[in-house]
Amino acid sequence: MLRLYIQMYRNGKLKMENEKLYNKKSLKAEEFINHEEVLRTLDYAEKNKNNLELIDKILEKARPVKNGNETHCQGLTHEEASILLACEDKNVLKKIYDLAEEIKHAFYGERIVIFAPLYLSNYCVNGCIYCPYHNQNHHIPRKKLTQEEVKAEVIALQDMGHKRLAIESGEDPVNNPIEYILECINTIYSIKHKNGAIRRVNVNIAATTVENYRKLKEAGIGTYILFQETYHKESYEKLHPTGPKHNYAYHTEAMDRAMEGGIDDVGLGVLFGLERYKYEFAALLMHAEHLEAVHGVGPHTISVPRVKKADDIDPTKFDNGIDDETFAKIVALTRIAVPYTGIIISTRESQAVREKLLKLGVSQVSGASRTSVGGYTEEERPTETEQFDVSDQRTLDEVVRWLLQLGHIPSFCTACYREGRTGERFMSMCKTGHIQNCCQPNALITLKEFLMDYASEETKKIGEEFILKELDKVENESVKKILTNNLKEIENGKRDFRF
Ligand code: SAM
Repeated sequence: MLRLYIQMYRNGKLKMENEKLYNKKSLKAEEFINHEEVLRTLDYAEKNKNNLELIDKILEKARPVKNGNETHCQGLTHEEASILLACEDKNVLKKIYDLAEEIKHAFYGERIVIFAPLYLSNYCVNGCIYCPYHNQNHHIPRKKLTQEEVKAEVIALQDMGHKRLAIESGEDPVNNPIEYILECINTIYSIKHKNGAIRRVNVNIAATTVENYRKLKEAGIGTYILFQETYHKESYEKLHPTGPKHNYAYHTEAMDRAMEGGIDDVGLGVLFGLERYKYEFAALLMHAEHLEAVHGVGPHTISVPRVKKADDIDPTKFDNGIDDETFAKIVALTRIAVPYTGIIISTRESQAVREKLLKLGVSQVSGASRTSVGGYTEEERPTETEQFDVSDQRTLDEVVRWLLQLGHIPSFCTACYREGRTGERFMSMCKTGHIQNCCQPNALITLKEFLMDYASEETKKIGEEFILKELDKVENESVKKILTNNLKEIENGKRDFRF
């Protein structure tokens, strides 16, 4: 009997030693994205998915609350949000969608920020199974933009009306060292073509060192974006069999290093399709909770890409693809769980899917994207170096017109980061709803610039009428006066006003 107890004690102790403890304040990946905690959460969610009393309480907690002229939202924990995700009740789903819309409206109004990706180089030393840039792909042409080519791409993007870019690059310390990325950022900011300017460069490059993050910060980047791809360590290691990206901890702890390097706006993301979505969703929220707990500020944005067809990549080979309905539910619950975080949807998604998600919480979309290196200077959309198939292939003018017709305000605003409203400062303004006083007028100012400089006659007509209606809705008289004046000055040829 005693022997049996000793054996049980030993087994228990061994199990405890193997299981790292969940600690959202830890700086170790396996502790803040703790596998056992994710499994416990999913199990708890499954057991409570029909507990309608608890579900109603969770929805109630997430509701925006008005206090004087401030609106607050508590958000949800990964556990609470996972219960809602597990629930299959149709009435609850309707409540989730309604609440997501309400929160979206309370904090973002009708504004949708527009950006474009710019691919600098597809040289890559990693072996990511889902990406056509993997280093075993020997038939894809490898290309890296020269500074002259960067300039030409940026002029093409400025001529469409873009003001905000996300630069993308494969990981290759020899071909794309940090000095190359910094040189490109410098080139991008230096180009002022006609009335054009790129005013914010976000960066989506592989996990790097604190020192390199500091250099990116000094180069004036906006958000540092890094998709986790999957939070499931075992799958992560299989999906990234070779190259520096194989290191799960180094990749998962990148945002902490970025913040240590002074970057206070970071963008998370999961590549949906690689692992079970419920696992990814719980872990993504744990990552957001970790950043908030350690750095006092959660993620600036969350991206929700789905695996797409690409050169030698067949998305049906991945077992965990999600349908449009599940995808919409994930977006809505992300909006509810992290109400102050921007949600980005790219042109990987079709016009119809994007249209549905705009209402449910998306705050940023890419427009007229080309995902190949050097794609913007080509007349025809080139596909040979494309990173993935683009579903939404409309021009920027068409995207702007579409947003206007749906009642959204297309915004090219980049004011926050240029006014130092980043990190904690941005979040505290967001959390009280005060950011609206800046965002709304800035959206109208940048839309006006677009209409004056780049829009077709049809878009211009719709846009001008839209601006007049929105101007009428501005309640603060002094803001209205300044805004009216700025809009007039833009007609007279002046540019770059901001609140
Ligand atoms: N190389 C950088 C890194 O290691 O994180 C990031 C740049 S990569 C050009 C941008 C993102 O594209 C990746 O993080 C991945 O999530 C996504 N991606 C890669 N292959 C894809 C595919 N077939 N379909 C959709 N998205 C894909």
